[in-house]
Amino acid sequence: MNILVTGGAGYIGSHTCKALALSGHNPITYDNLSTGHKELVKWGVFEYGDILDNSRLQTVIKKHKINGVIHFAALSTVGESVNEPNKYYYNNVAGTLSLLEAMRLQAVSHIVVSSTCSVYGAVKETPIAETAPVKPINPYGTSKATMEYMLADYYKAFGMGSVALRYFNAAGADKNQETGEWHDPETHLIPRVIMAAWHDIPELQIFGNDYPTPDGTCIRDYIHVEDLADAHVKAMNLLIKNNELLTLNLGTGTGYSVQEILNATAKILNKNIPHSFVQRRDGDPAALVAQSDKAQTILDWKPQRSDLENILIGAAKWYEKIRDK
Ligand code: UDP
Repeated sequence: MNILVTGGAGYIGSHTCKALALSGHNPITYDNLSTGHKELVKWGVFEYGDILDNSRLQTVIKKHKINGVIHFAALSTVGESVNEPNKYYYNNVAGTLSLLEAMRLQAVSHIVVSSTCSVYGAVKETPIAETAPVKPINPYGTSKATMEYMLADYYKAFGMGSVALRYFNAAGADKNQETGEWHDPETHLIPRVIMAAWHDIPELQIFGNDYPTPDGTCIRDYIHVEDLADAHVKAMNLLIKNNELLTLNLGTGTGYSVQEILNATAKILNKNIPHSFVQRRDGDPAALVAQSDKAQTILDWKPQRSDLENILIGAAKWYEKIRDK
């Protein structure tokens, strides 16, 4: 099948293009390169474009006879969304609407989207199931929840089938180091811990050690990006067979605190990692851990590469590769 991958030049998008190609699909990356990298488009062709450009999207859909869409193109930094919510509603809400309209007008009726555990907000209990209330506490989470509401309405009104994958924390890199996490600036925890280990930043700042968790730092569920990529391919295959409306969590069910990530990285790299404790970052819930039994059953999927050591070793190797770029 010809699958349009918006944001295919980005982190999870590029791993998904590889997984699509390996499973016999034909990925077509559509990306405006605002945060993605052209050199990560290694599987399938590249089409430059913005998701807000509806006519360009329709042209690309027609040109490549697109059968389904996997939608990654979005802004995804919690802290930035608190300070600049306008960008998040513009890109993630208006951008997704533009894409859904292009699909509707060109009669493409399958879409898999990247959603997020941020839609749950400050949950009281973990692990979190899909039935937990959607109560985002930052504009990033709100923009993704709005996308999910649009999908439900497009399914009802136009029969457009969709799977919204609510990921927890994507981490790690391709096993052959063909792609990996590459943000500029980098704000995510694991790459920043590695950068601090290399002394490429002065220290890792740990945002808050007064959370109600065993060591006071935030707990997250880190899932290997290759496991995420596999789930996207399986979700698309499912829609092609049976066009429905689904929302699925993708995580491992195990949480690690920021302090535990720091300690594990120091051990693996055998380096002292300079760090300090600073105040909490706005918009951060204390703990987010997934219950992903539903995805495991419906997609016949299981995280296979998500043990913490594998994630950290892969991320560290990839960082060495892009360090001087
Ligand atoms: N974090 C931190 N220092 C950093 C970056 C992140 O303490 O330099 C914490 C952050 O507050 C959160 C966790 O690490 O509790 C994961 O943050 P990240 O930005 O990687 O992902 P998010 O959970 O925001 O999607």
